[in-house]
Amino acid sequence: MKFINKFKSFSFDKRKKSKINYVIIHYTALENCEKAISHLCNENNKVSSHFIISQKGQIYTLVNEKYRAWHAGVSSWNGESDLNSSSIGIELDYSLKYKNNKFSKNMMRSLSLLLTYILKKYKINNRNVLGHSDIAPFRKKDPGEYFPWKFLYNKNIAFCPDKKNKIYLKILNKWFEKYHFNSKKKIIILLFNFIGYDTSLVVHNNYLFKKLIIAYQTHFIQSNINGIVDDKTFTYIKIHFLTLVLKKL
Ligand SMILES: [Zn+2]
Repeated sequence: MKFINKFKSFSFDKRKKSKINYVIIHYTALENCEKAISHLCNENNKVSSHFIISQKGQIYTLVNEKYRAWHAGVSSWNGESDLNSSSIGIELDYSLKYKNNKFSKNMMRSLSLLLTYILKKYKINNRNVLGHSDIAPFRKKDPGEYFPWKFLYNKNIAFCPDKKNKIYLKILNKWFEKYHFNSKKKIIILLFNFIGYDTSLVVHNNYLFKKLIIAYQTHFIQSNINGIVDDKTFTYIKIHFLTLVLKKL
């Protein structure tokens, strides 16, 4: 893996935490890589990322990993709100509107090499490889519904719920019954909290709840993005929870 170091962004500051725990994947939503790099390197924009990967698979370093690049913005995961301090940000040269509207093979190959390197270097669990839309579900869509998470699952550098765990669904459902979790929404909020999503705004807001379901589906059930807690979605989220719990044991 080769890094191209010829561009620098000055939009960064000191990390407020020393441990790097997450990797956040973005897309640029700009016309091409040159424009994205000049955007990220323009101090007035006050945005940056540690890396950007071009359609050809070139990996540019814009901010040194030890610094806090400004890519996450207002965000939350696992109760943490300063994700910039605890993450590495990777931008992908991609926009639905322009010619760079595919996650090319070369780009994905470089991304997988880069993720493998980062996960190993900072001992990051693959469940902490997230999309911007996971940590800012009401504001952000990237990396979006076409991002091939499966490609990363197959290389074990992103987390995928394990369907084998559906054998425990009965036990889980009984537990919900016993403790009077009598609405789907209540159950989802509990499970989402465990997974890491910030659910504080959705408890009394069905519009935002729907947005959160869409964010979840955009990452984990790309064949079923409808904002509805249908049977498929409900079961999938439970299996997701079970996979995490059983992995922790
Ligand atoms: Zn983003």
